Formats: sequence, C-alpha cells, structure tokens
Amino acid sequence: MIREPASHSSLLLTTRFDAIVQSLGAALDLDSALQGIVQDVRNVFQVDICLLYLSDPARPELQRLMASDGLEAHAGPPLQHAFADTLANLVAERSEPVNLCDSQASPDHQDANCQGYLGVPIMHQGVLLGVLVVQQKARYRFSESELASLATLAAQIAGGIQLAKARGRINSGASGDLSAAPFFEGVIGAPGIAFGTGHVVYAKAELARIPDRDVTDIDAEIALFQAAVSHVANELDRIAEEQGGGLTAEDRTLFRAYAMIARSDELVTSTLAGIRQGNWAAGALRNSIQEHARYFEAMEDPYLRERADDIRDIGRALLNELQTLEPVEERYPARAILVGEDLSPLDLAAVKGAHLVAVISGHGSRLSHLAILARSMGIPAVMGLADTLPLNSLHGKSLIVDGYEGRLYIEPDANLKREYRNIAARERRLSKKLRHLRDQTAQTPDGFRIPLYTNAGLLSDLNPSLAAGSEGIGLYRTEYPFMVRDSFPTEEEQYTLYRKILQTFHPRPVTLRTLDIGGDKPLTYFPIQETNPFLGWRGIRISLDHPEMFLTQIRAMLRASSGLDNLSLLLPMISRVEDLDEALILIQRARQELEQEGHSVTQPLLGAMIEVPSAVFQVEALARRVDFLSVGTNDLTQYLLAVDRNNERVARWFDALHPAVIQALLRIIRAGKRCGIPVSVCGEAAGDPAVALLLIGMGVSSLSLSAGDLPRIKWAIHSFSRQRARALLRQSLQLEQASAIRTLLTQALVDAGLEGLVHPGNSS
Ligand code: PEP
Ligand code: MG
Repeated sequence: MIREPASHSSLLLTTRFDAIVQSLGAALDLDSALQGIVQDVRNVFQVDICLLYLSDPARPELQRLMASDGLEAHAGPPLQHAFADTLANLVAERSEPVNLCDSQASPDHQDANCQGYLGVPIMHQGVLLGVLVVQQKARYRFSESELASLATLAAQIAGGIQLAKARGRINSGASGDLSAAPFFEGVIGAPGIAFGTGHVVYAKAELARIPDRDVTDIDAEIALFQAAVSHVANELDRIAEEQGGGLTAEDRTLFRAYAMIARSDELVTSTLAGIRQGNWAAGALRNSIQEHARYFEAMEDPYLRERADDIRDIGRALLNELQTLEPVEERYPARAILVGEDLSPLDLAAVKGAHLVAVISGHGSRLSHLAILARSMGIPAVMGLADTLPLNSLHGKSLIVDGYEGRLYIEPDANLKREYRNIAARERRLSKKLRHLRDQTAQTPDGFRIPLYTNAGLLSDLNPSLAAGSEGIGLYRTEYPFMVRDSFPTEEEQYTLYRKILQTFHPRPVTLRTLDIGGDKPLTYFPIQETNPFLGWRGIRISLDHPEMFLTQIRAMLRASSGLDNLSLLLPMISRVEDLDEALILIQRARQELEQEGHSVTQPLLGAMIEVPSAVFQVEALARRVDFLSVGTNDLTQYLLAVDRNNERVARWFDALHPAVIQALLRIIRAGKRCGIPVSVCGEAAGDPAVALLLIGMGVSSLSLSAGDLPRIKWAIHSFSRQRARALLRQSLQLEQASAIRTLLTQALVDAGLEGLVHPGNSS
C-alpha cells in the first residue's frame, strides 16, 4: 500500500525501483537476490507481507515460495500458507494479477494473515518466472495504481531474477545426457559444435563489464590492490593539498573525502574478501564498488544518493590504477571461446594466432555480421544470451557450444562431453562424405546448372572458399578492411587488397561490393550517430554523399582488375533509380579518369543489390540499367518483415521462408529473366537448404554463400531435380505460414535422404 502519496511521487518510485533492480544485479546468489527483493518491496510498498514465488522448473504452473518478508510476524496456521500458495498458483495459471480483499482473500475469517492480497506474475520474454505477492493484515483493497506499480516492478525485476538463477546454474555445471542436461538457450548464430574455454572480452575502462577471473596467487593480487589503493588515495590527497592549483576550499574537501573513501575500511575490506575467495582484484573491486554505490542509491536523501556517483568514480580510478600497475595481457586459452556482451567482427579479427573455436555474444542474431563472419570462419556462434546469463562469469569456464541448436553448456560432465563428441564425429563424417563433391559442378540431376560462389570479407576468408571448391567470390564485403584500420584506406592500399583477391581467384569471377558501412558496420574514425541506423545513412547513400571516397574505391577496383578482367562490381542498398543512375555515372567517370591517366581499364560487370522492398517493386527499372542483380536476403527480410536483423528478441520473427519473402524472391528472379540478366542470391538464406530448394525451383542463376555452407547446398542441388524443386515451390506458394513451408521442405529433404542437412549430427 502506498500510504503517503506525497512522498511516493512517481519519480521517487522510479528511483526506488531502479535501486531494487540494481541490488538484484549485484546479488551474489539467488537466495540473497530474492530475499533482497521481498524486503525492498515490503519497505517501498509499506505492506505487512511480501512473498516471492518461482515456478517449478518441471511444472511451471506450480509456484514454490522462495522468499518472504513479514510472514514470520504474522504466521498463521498452515492452512493459510497453503491458501496463499493456491492464490499464487492462480496468478500463475491466469498469468494475470489477482487482487482480493477481506473475506475473499481468506477462507478463514479469523485469519489476520491475508486480508488484502495482490499477486502479479513475473514474466520474462513470454515465459512465467514466478509470482510477486504483497499482503495487508488489515482489511484492505489494493488500488489500481498500486497494482500498476507492482506489475511494473515485476516486469523490471524479471531479467535480474533470470540472471540470478543463471548464476546459480553456472556454478552447478551441466551433467547428464543431452535431453536432460541444463543448458542456456540463445539464438543460433553459426552452426557447429565446439568444446573449449570461455575467454571474456570486455571494455577495459568499464568497471561494470569487468569479468570474474580466478587467481592462484592471492597474496600477489592483494598486494596489487593495496598498491592501487595507496597510489590513488595519495594522489587524491596530493591534489587536495596542492597549492596554487585554483581549487576552492570546497574542492579540496571533496578530494579529501574521495581519498578517505578510497582507503575506507568498507571498500578495502570487502574487496580483499572477494580476492581471498579467489577472484582477481578487478573483479572483486567491481563487486564491492557496485555494492557500495547501491547502498547510497537506495537512500532517500538526494544528496546522499548522489554519492553513489562518487563511489563509482573512485572505482574507475582504482581500476585504472590496477590496469596500469599490471596491464592485462590477453592470454587466450588453448581452445578459446570468445565471450562478450556485444562482440563485433573486430573482436574476432583481434584474436590473431590463438585457436578460436566458437563465439558467444550477448546480443545479435544469425544475421549479425559477427555471426556471418563466424560462419565464414567455420566456427559455431550462439548469440543473444545477455538476458539469459551473466556472461562475465564465463571466463575460464569449460564450455560446449552447440551452434545447431543455439545452446551453451557450462562445465559439462563426461557424459555430456561424450554425447557431443559423437555428434561432432558424425558431423565430420558427413563433411568427409561431401568432400568428393568439391570438384564437381553444382547441377541438378536434370541438368540445371547453378554456379556456387562464396561470400568473403577478410583475406583469411579466401582459403576456406578455395578449399570448399568455390567457383568465385559472389560477394566481397569491402567494409571489413575499412573497419580494421584507423583511417580510410588509400587508393593504393585498396588496390593491393583487391588485386590480391582478383588474382587469387582468377580466372574465376570476383564480385567486389562497394562500401556498405552504416547499420551495424561502423567505422571508429567516421562516427555516425543515428537513432535508426538501419534506416539511415548506409551503403550507397554514404558513397553518393562522399563521391571522393566512392571514386577512390572504384578507381582501386578498376585498376586491380586490369589484365585480369574478372571483376564484377556490386552496389549495395539501392532504394531508388536515381541512386543507381548517379552511382553508374560516377563509375563511368572513374573509368574515364583512369583511361586519361593511361591505365588500361576493362568495363566490369555492374550489378545492383536488391535488398530494400522499394527495389523489389522497381526491379525491372533497376534491371534495365545493370548487368546482374544480387539479392541480399539479410536486409531484404529485415526490411520486408520489419525485424531488426541484429535483435535477438525478435529473431523468431526473422524468417526468409516467410511467404512475403518468397513472393519477393520470385518477383526478382522473374524480372531478371524478363530483362535477360542473371539474378544471384548472396544473403545467408542462400545457405539454408530449404530456401535453396525454392531458389532452384525459381530458376536462380547462382548462389553465393559462406564457404562452410557450400558443400551441403551442393549436395542438395545434386539431389533435387529442377522439376521436383518447382513442384515444391508451387506447394509452398499455397501455404500461408513460414512454419508450414519449413515443415514441407524439411520433409522433402529427409525423404531425399538429406537428413544430415536438417538435423546435423543425426546423419550417419
Ligand atoms: C544482405 O543484406 O543480405 C547482404 C548480403 O549484405 P549484408 O549482410 O552485408 O548487409
Ligand atoms: Mg545487406
């Protein structure tokens, strides 16, 4: 009950809710997290009792009381407890709040335990986690606004409860067989199975992101921390005492106070305790700073609340000092599984020399460029785990990454490892079986030829492409070389790079795509701040606004092709005819300039990417202007279905088998045929055997895919006649749901003996 409306302004409630959420985030285990919540809720809502139930893992409709505050003081006979549990089950069953008053609230009128009852479900990503209950001893009806506040709080703490549960599970390890062992489920990023050790990548300056790391030499870690404290505190004292620095008396007092906090017993003792438990100084410091900051944040007095920021500032200074005293040298484990809140392709590129076997990212989906890169490197990736488990606890942990199912197992036991080894072995057998296809052309049994090209973006990508029997590069993403530098590469640098690619694949064709930065491919030295980057200044739009950059890139590409003549040039993010026309004029200009400078330049094939819905509806107008079209299903699906390709929360809405996407693909391929130009598909969907069957049916001219997907797609092409694929396409066009289309195509693959493409690891 909110008895004092004046003192519980919505602002104050928001602050208090924030404090509850933050202390939940810092709790070391589930019990203390839940106990903290019930105490805080009882206090904030000023109620007699607060109860927190969690769903039984085996029977989610059944609620188990996990934490209570005030119950002891109002203990009634067991019946009332049972009744409270029944009400909690009712909240769970309905997934709706239950608000009861007086006799409704209790079967026993003598019972003083439950006269006003309000229970709200705690939902996390569509799943019921538990129930949060407040009760009043006196007859009371909770108001609508109290209900709304409790429901708001329940929504806010759901993520924290999920993480606190996960923390407990991380420490208990995964045991048993595949079907029973507990795992963390994320979004499938890239397929494959990997065994290895977690290596957390973090932003060095961000205290909150510092991972836990085990230390063996505790005394050395203590000495390091003490040295950092004394250095930082002495420095603060020195500033406070410095004469002539222009500091006011108040400033000096502040610096003295900072020095005192840095040396304070509370901070030092709790950090030392953390180190003694085996955590490294930075991890122990993170915990104690967060704990102290939260303590201040929970205070009513605005002045004291502000002190939380001071504590964090001191934490940052200490962290900085720790890192200066002992710079962290990234030592990757033997089989490194890179883990990070928001890993970027650059983090992968940074792991040079180490044996990287998998990637775990807190955010993103299989269409994120990180996942695409992992696929081209042939390593599994699981994405979107940030809301499911505290990633910074994974450092040094033994992990199994199942990229087929999007699962992560922590500290697996021998049984589980054995099961996964068997799957990995079956995988290898399938790859071996498909190896003989390497030098065969991709052709259906009834003679329909579909050249298979590969997608690439880093020089290291070329070898897997060659090894997979790629017939050329169907999409070279030129932005990666721009991303790994700290300024735009010069024409000469670009020339060298493009020349190497064209030479490596000569005489096979190579499609170089012009720069497609923006969206999720930022350049540190060319920052673009936008609220909606995927709908913003991206791809060709930037190139046209910076013709000097565009011309440099085109010149480098044309020069690189000189004498080889295997270049195709592809323009990304075309959304209107004007953009294409303007780009084509610039390409012409670059060519003329080069000729005037005495270079011999052959006209490359020019192509437009179809990846924006407007381009689908104007596909013929675009097709008339170029030599080929290339469909970017990643962006096309994102824009057609209004699903952010990087957002794990909406990953299940992203499906290239959505009937609207199929209709769009059909329209594009038919337009290509009418205009007499080839249509290739280069998005990730080209590597999905089910989508590939439909594309064969549509008569796609070629596919460009990750090197790792190539042998399987070739197997599918060899196994399905064009006629059969056409029939499947006709059937699919009758269906209204992606799931039904997937079922149809999956069954077709299984019936054709391609079970291994559908359930990797089940093949013999
Ligand atoms: C696409 O959008 O499908 C595509 C191939 O381009 P990118 O993934 O680089 O945006
Ligand atoms: Mg794209």
